[in-house]
Amino acid sequence: MRYGYRGSALATAGLAVALTACDDPVGVESGTAAFVNVNVIPMTGEVVLQEQTVVVADGSIVEVGPSSSTTVPGDAEVIDGAGAYLLPGLADMHVHLRDDWPVSQLDLFLANGVTTVRSLNAEGAFVLSWRDAINAGTLRGPTIVTAGPTLYGALVNPEAAVQQQVAQGYDFLKLYSYLTLQEFRDVMGAARQLGAYTVGHIPYAVGLDNVVTEGMDEVAHIEELTWEFVAFDRNLGLDAPQWLPHLVGLIFQQYDVPAGFNDAEFLANFGDSVAVIATRLSGAGIPVTTTLAVDSVIVQKLFAPDAFLARDESQYLPDTYLASLSHGTEKHQVQFAGIEPLAPYKYAFDRLLAREFHEAGVTLVAGTDCGTGTMGIVPGFAIHDELKILTANGFTAYEAIAAATVQASQVMASITGEDAFGTIEVGKRADLVLLGQNPLQDIAALRNPRGVMARGVWYSGEQLDGMLAHGGSP
Ligand SMILES: [Zn+2]
Repeated sequence: MRYGYRGSALATAGLAVALTACDDPVGVESGTAAFVNVNVIPMTGEVVLQEQTVVVADGSIVEVGPSSSTTVPGDAEVIDGAGAYLLPGLADMHVHLRDDWPVSQLDLFLANGVTTVRSLNAEGAFVLSWRDAINAGTLRGPTIVTAGPTLYGALVNPEAAVQQQVAQGYDFLKLYSYLTLQEFRDVMGAARQLGAYTVGHIPYAVGLDNVVTEGMDEVAHIEELTWEFVAFDRNLGLDAPQWLPHLVGLIFQQYDVPAGFNDAEFLANFGDSVAVIATRLSGAGIPVTTTLAVDSVIVQKLFAPDAFLARDESQYLPDTYLASLSHGTEKHQVQFAGIEPLAPYKYAFDRLLAREFHEAGVTLVAGTDCGTGTMGIVPGFAIHDELKILTANGFTAYEAIAAATVQASQVMASITGEDAFGTIEVGKRADLVLLGQNPLQDIAALRNPRGVMARGVWYSGEQLDGMLAHGGSP
């Protein structure tokens, strides 16, 4: 961690106990466990190691080797892995945590094999409490790394805002679309001074050139790069609510949106620019979080709302969200009213960028933008949609899983200082998913884990089902 080491566990321990009091406390104690006779997909390369034993103690992987020659400690809980596949737990690198969902988001993540989440803004002090309690072993959930409140724009004192978030112990900074160029420079200057990692939208008044020049560490969505293909004046000085309508108008002027997005035609006209942008991102070492599930969900909401509601996971959405949807006041219903063809157009555009960036070697990490309560994207379930979309767009199953494991951890290391998860190797955090089928053959195998281990705590399939069934807020 570059700053704000999570030394506040003691201070929050009392709160953590209260948080778990209403929930099933089973499974927050991490002891010694061993998976035996299991097929290991270590994610250190595209291999499956057969007949392995993986020993876990005190929250870490302590031994990996052939079952024939690896000793299982006498006090270990033995988990039979015969015929099953063990791989690192998944990370969702773009989430929003809320404490008002009908089923705890933390449980939704765990039940889906998501053992690490990166929270792209903190909407309340509870996010820090959750993070610290999970680290202290007093609350069950995925490991959380969190930004502070979004640096939205119209900042009274950008430097002070950055300093305050760092002092409060947030892990990194989230920059938003409406920062002016001056605010952006001030935020970046303060962030550099404090060694704080920055993830952001590409502010409309800023653009990719300045993002690279100022050294913003990471781009929060692939879609941010689409604005590089719209000709507009970045110096208009518009107020926040004016930007999007203005830019959407320009898209319809500059592109034949109703005709639909044509990959070949777009590449014929703009292929060189796509390549230049990819080179700039990879050259500057700027990873991009994918969040393609958002596009997919928008299209479904607008064009197949019954199918959207019929999704298994829609039962976990907050009532307030479902009400907004039935009243036609949901975020994307409003945003796309009268310009519906833009939704599939944008989705096709973003998928093309994903394919091209991936091929060009840009680091893409898997994220979903789940959990806000305004978009209908359900924690945990969404990562499986994201990975499925990636495999339909140039990623092998291995590469898609890497974007949510080994690569996610390498990117997270820039924030926390430690490449702590994402592979099955001695020393890594014991975040593991046990599957009945090989996900390298069919990525859908990830959807139904036989069990999940988070920070060395084993949750059986039955326990995971229980989390989904009764939920209970954490
Ligand atoms: Zn987001």
